[in-house]
Formats: sequence, structure tokens, C-alpha cells
Amino acid sequence: MSAPVYERVALIGLGLIASSMFWAIKRGGLAGEVTGYARSEATRDTARRIGLCDRVCDSAAEAAEGADLVVLCVPVGAMGSVAEEIAAVLKPGATVSDVGSVKRSVINAVAPHLPDTVHFVPAHPLAGTEHSGPESGFAELYDNRWCILVPADETTDPEAVARLRALWEGMGANVDEMDADHHDLVLAVTSHAPHLIAYTMVGVADHLRRVTESEVIKYSAAGFRDFTRIAASDPTMWRDVFLNNKEATLDILGRFTEELFVLQRAIRMGDGDHLHEYFSRTRAIRRGIIEAGQDTEAPDFGRAAKKP
Ligand code: NAP
Repeated sequence: MSAPVYERVALIGLGLIASSMFWAIKRGGLAGEVTGYARSEATRDTARRIGLCDRVCDSAAEAAEGADLVVLCVPVGAMGSVAEEIAAVLKPGATVSDVGSVKRSVINAVAPHLPDTVHFVPAHPLAGTEHSGPESGFAELYDNRWCILVPADETTDPEAVARLRALWEGMGANVDEMDADHHDLVLAVTSHAPHLIAYTMVGVADHLRRVTESEVIKYSAAGFRDFTRIAASDPTMWRDVFLNNKEATLDILGRFTEELFVLQRAIRMGDGDHLHEYFSRTRAIRRGIIEAGQDTEAPDFGRAAKKP
């Protein structure tokens, strides 16, 4: 147990990311009280039933009022309207953060609503599963995962940044700082484009299934199964990611298509040397990820979702 980093934390949106934050905050004794709010009554009822948050409120403003840290944990496209809802009640000196998978558009949507008396320190934990909702969270989600802090500009108070860093480290994460545009490009390569490719591959197989009946499911090998796991990710969250990280995603998909054509040509021309050299390079990247402790050799990508 560490000393509390914040007296009061408010989580707005109670899905996978917020519920995992709550359990990790409790595990580490990182806050005196955690309030929570979700827009639907069903989610608020579930949160109350499973003990998610010390106090579940019926409005975002009620949850945010008096909090030292308010974290927006809703889909990227909803961040601006939630910021607008809570702006009037924010405590002077409080920090507002978020966990959105895209940073530049969230900064553009949220910052104009915030009063000058609060600190805005956007963040993005690089951790998740294909599950969503208040019951999908678990305390270990952030253990040894990266959380990227994206201070909105050079005027951001370093003490507010250091305190948020302490919270994420207390939740088990390794913390780095990055500029918003750089973040969005890096994530387009490492997360956004791969998700789109997985969605597409599963879509292709779905069309094929209509031709081959159930064989795609029956004989689905590990490669395809891994794609289906990624392609089961929340549709709302991912719609918002692509709509809000358009340029970087399109840039990476353009490069992807070029590489795909080169491989396609190598197959057509029977250029085995090219294929072998290419696959050897990609295998080395996989080894590097395992050596960096960001995955294991286990076939479930090293992390089975589990409840606290
Ligand atoms: P989630 O499990 O689907 O939960 C989303 C929460 O936001 C729910 O409480 C939902 O309320 C609420 N919500 C949805 N649409 C809303 C709207 N229009 N206005 C207000 N509230 C709304 O999502 P999550 O996986 O925790 O993701 C939350 C954020 O974390 C997203 O910005 C996402 O980009 C980011 N993120 C996700 C992952 C991941 O792998 N899942 C990883 C890193 C960051 P109801 O339950 O009442 O509908």
C-alpha cells in the first residue's frame, strides 16, 4: 500500500478502463475516495451491485464536484461533451485527465471547455482486452504496461504531471511522456492500423464462410483466432478511434498496402528469398517485444482477462 496520491478521484464512464483503474487504485490505496458515473442507469446499477467505486453518482457533474482528479473514461468522440458537462463544478487546482486512445482530437475537444483554474493532463494507458463494460475490469490490467502522458502544452504544471505519473505508477504502469501528434502516429502503427486489418480479415473470412459453410470456424487456426479476438473489440470505441485519428491511420494503411503489394508480387514471381528475408525480420520484432516484457510466449498473448 502506498500513501494516497489524490484525496478524491472521479471516474466518468465506467467501462473496462475505468473499472480496472478503480480496482488498481484500491489495490494500491492510491485515493481516499473514488466516485464514478456512467450515462446509463443499467451501468450505474451494475457498478453499485459489484462495489465499483466508493460512490456511484447520477450525473457526471455530481461525480466530478470536489474531486482532485477527474478522469474521462468514455469513447473518444464523447470526451468534449462530457468535459462541457463537468466544467462548471471543477475544483480550482484539480487535474482533468482522460484515457482516450487518440490524443490530438481529445485535446482539441476537451481543452476549450476547461476553466483556467484546472490542470489538463491527457493520458493513454496502452492496455486493454477485447471485453468492455463495468464488469470487465481487473486490478492487474496496467501491471508492467505503458501509460503515455501527453501534457496538453508547455505551460502544463509539472507538479500536476508528476502527481498523475505517481498515480499510474502506483497502478503498476510504466509511464512515458509524448507529444500528442507523435502519440497518434505511433499508435496508428502499433494499434489502430492492426485493428483495422484484423477487422478486415475477419470480414473477408465472413464472406468466405458463406461459400464454404462453417469450415472457417471449424478449422480456424491460431492466426485467424487471434484476429477474431482483436476484431471483437468494442465497435463504438473503435469507430471513434478511426474517425479521430484519420490522417495517421490513413498514412500507415497506405504504407501497409504498398508492402502488401510487394509481398503479393514476391509470391506471384516465386521470390522465396524475398519472403524468407521479410519474415525473418518480422520474427525478430516479435522477439524484441517479448524481451521488452510486453508479451509472453503464451498463445493467449500472455494475458487472460480475469476478475479481481
Ligand atoms: P467501455 O468498456 O465500452 O466503457 C465506455 C464507458 O463510456 C461506459 O461507461 C459508457 O456508458 C460510456 N459511454 C459510452 N458512450 C458514451 C457517450 N456518448 N457519452 C457518455 N458516456 C458514454 O470502454 P473502455 O474500453 O473502457 O474505453 C474507454 C476509453 O478508453 C476510450 O476512450 C478508449 O479509446 C480508451 N481506451 C480503451 C482501451 C481498450 O482496449 N478498451 C485501451 C486504452 C484506452 P454506458 O455503460 O452507460 O453505456
